[in-house]
Amino acid sequence: SNDVDSLDYYSITQLLSNDQLDIRNKAKQFAEQHIQPIVNEYYEKAEFPMHLLPKLKELNWAGSNIKGYSCPGIDAVSCGLIAFEFAKKSADIATFFGILQTISMLPIYYCGSEKQKQYYLPKMASMEKIGAFGLTEPNAGSDAAGLFCEAKQNSDGTWTLNGEKRWIGNAPFADVVIIWARNTDTKLINGFVIEKNTPGMTVETINNKIALRMVQNGHIYLKNCILSDENRLPLAKDFGSGPGKSLFLTRIVASWIALGIACSAYESCIKYVKERKQFGQSLAKYQLVQERLVKMLGIIQSMSLMTLRISHLFDQNKLTYGQVGLLKAHNTSHGRQVVSMARELLGGNGIVTDFGVARSFVDMEAVHTFEGTYDINTLITGREITGFPAFKTGK
Ligand code: FAD
Repeated sequence: SNDVDSLDYYSITQLLSNDQLDIRNKAKQFAEQHIQPIVNEYYEKAEFPMHLLPKLKELNWAGSNIKGYSCPGIDAVSCGLIAFEFAKKSADIATFFGILQTISMLPIYYCGSEKQKQYYLPKMASMEKIGAFGLTEPNAGSDAAGLFCEAKQNSDGTWTLNGEKRWIGNAPFADVVIIWARNTDTKLINGFVIEKNTPGMTVETINNKIALRMVQNGHIYLKNCILSDENRLPLAKDFGSGPGKSLFLTRIVASWIALGIACSAYESCIKYVKERKQFGQSLAKYQLVQERLVKMLGIIQSMSLMTLRISHLFDQNKLTYGQVGLLKAHNTSHGRQVVSMARELLGGNGIVTDFGVARSFVDMEAVHTFEGTYDINTLITGREITGFPAFKTGK
């Protein structure tokens, strides 16, 4: 048949539980029914399809692995399979949902007070409030721990925040933004939950992106933004206990997104080369074409097995930063090879959005960069296996 499921080649789906398979099927149906029909139109307009929000809400998957607080409490594999199936149709929707699933809610779950958790998490799980995660700054990207945004505690206990955040996904329409800022007394990183329309915070949308065009990324300005101490996440004492803690699951989800993009490109490509004829024969009959298809398939098997294994280890609470870094670096660097071969095999049709592969090609670039670039994730693993942090050159 013409139906290809790239995860079936090594029967990787056999490694999934029935609950996980159910979630995968539900996500797949959702993506086919609601995402596929609108994706090219919204991608070209560079608009987020807001009409999908009520439908996404019905899935009840926001807050994914969080237990309690009206969150679904599903495992990391299930979170990943949702991201994977969404990413097969649209890396944008997968990224948007990834922010909801994990990165905007986990800091509150890990670092918030009981009161904050009870107030925010159910509202975010029901998507009554959409979240965003503000770590990156114009002058602090890869060196996120070196961020400049300042939080100064005033004599009445309130806080004044000053600084900028850049690239923050969902920020232009988010109801709640987590902002990481440097405590001017301790010099360590603290976290704050800031509600939309708080005086002193303004958000500009970043326009003209050539990848993930539907995701709305914001540039946030904080100018004497005054917050009560109740907005501070009390358990976020520094980078590791604050933003760092959320990065395990978010990097795993990003790795599933890379896998989804790669599978989508491969599956479109194999259908295309079977149908497309040149020199009187289908492209699939040529040795050079088959070699590329097999290379793509092999890479996808290695990406899937690593992704699944690391997701299992997350659920067993046994992961190191280096193990996750290696997965994220592996999936996007190899995923890039897959989308590049697929794009090439579609010829001219590989550069128009109609065939999907062009989107896969550019979107993989964004995933290669966010959640820690390829280089940074590689250096995190490098530090772990050698004992030498190589982020900075010697003086
Ligand atoms: P830079 O840090 O300037 O890096 C430029 C290049 O230099 C990269 O190739 C990098 O690997 C390399 N480099 C840097 N340091 C080293 C080193 N020590 N050794 C070797 N090479 C090095 N951030 C958020 O906080 N929240 C979000 O929701 C969010 N969403 C995003 C969505 C998109 C679509 C994108 C593109 C980004 C998003 N980001 C978000 C920001 C993202 O995490 C950063 O873009 C990323 O960390 C890289 O930072 P930078 O862009 O400043 O690049």
